[in-house]
Amino acid sequence: MQPTGNLHIGNYLGALKNWVRIQHDYECIFCIVDLHAVTVYQEPAELRAKIREIAALYLAAGIDPKVCAIMVQSAVPAHTELAWMLTCVTPVGWLERMTQYKMKAAKQESVGDGLLQYPVLMAADILLYQAGIVPVGDDQSQHLELTRDIAQRFNSLYGETFVVPGTSLPTVGARVMGLDDPTAKMSKSATGANHAVALLDPPAKIRKTIMRATTDSEPAVDCATAGPGVLNLLSIYQAFSGVSDDEIKSTFNGLRYGDLKKKVADIVVEHLEPFQQRYREITADPAYLDGILREGAERVAPIADSTVRLVKERMGLYT
Ligand code: AMP
Repeated sequence: MQPTGNLHIGNYLGALKNWVRIQHDYECIFCIVDLHAVTVYQEPAELRAKIREIAALYLAAGIDPKVCAIMVQSAVPAHTELAWMLTCVTPVGWLERMTQYKMKAAKQESVGDGLLQYPVLMAADILLYQAGIVPVGDDQSQHLELTRDIAQRFNSLYGETFVVPGTSLPTVGARVMGLDDPTAKMSKSATGANHAVALLDPPAKIRKTIMRATTDSEPAVDCATAGPGVLNLLSIYQAFSGVSDDEIKSTFNGLRYGDLKKKVADIVVEHLEPFQQRYREITADPAYLDGILREGAERVAPIADSTVRLVKERMGLYT
């Protein structure tokens, strides 16, 4: 995750919750991508603080540093080293087609090269560790497809080098929509006061944001015909509670929108209150957090370095 803005329930349901679930099934590496964050200007002191905030949120969500590595991208120089080598096999046209690039570039007066290169650096983050599976939200599917294309192109030019990674999307919550506008993805950079529920929002604010969520003019829930606002609320409820489609129908069909929102607010607060308590405990000890990040970087560096060595050999670079 990028250490920018405030992590919200979309980040949690689309990625973080899934990571906690799979951490015992795979050898996992969870990265805080600070080099991706600086593709647009970040105030340095804020970025420094955000990196630690994200690390603490990973831990509060239940990522166990004894079984996984939690590390910061810029602490392992091999990420940028490999990114350059991958840049050299990536056609510019592939990058210009990326939806996120087009959206972000449209908002800037002058577009930095880093914004275009963003998905190549992401491919390096993944291919560096020969990752089999990348658990992300739906908005990253296109970048994952590009990662596979880059890996395959490199392999066909220089011989089998990279594992071609798969994508793992959650079944529910892969794309949480904005509460103020259910046609747009919930996003850290959106500015509307009622757009998102941030993971560190106080319970009263969480309730207020959800109670104000945009629905439609129908009187009550009908799961078969529900519009995007109601569907978004139902899928947030389902992703937090883990209940089946049938249970969703029997609980919510016929319920007035006010009661639907109250139930959704209750389940979100019920999950986020203990999460926030753990966050406060973790951040009370900054040395503990820094130790985990240092250890994480030390743990993954040998894997990263051996991939870079292999890539240099394959390309004929000086080793
Ligand atoms: P980012 O916010 O770009 O740092 O994304 C961090 C992770 O959260 C990525 O795996 C995204 O796919 C996921 N994510 C971001 N926004 C959403 C959303 N609205 N719904 C589901 N997953 C999301």
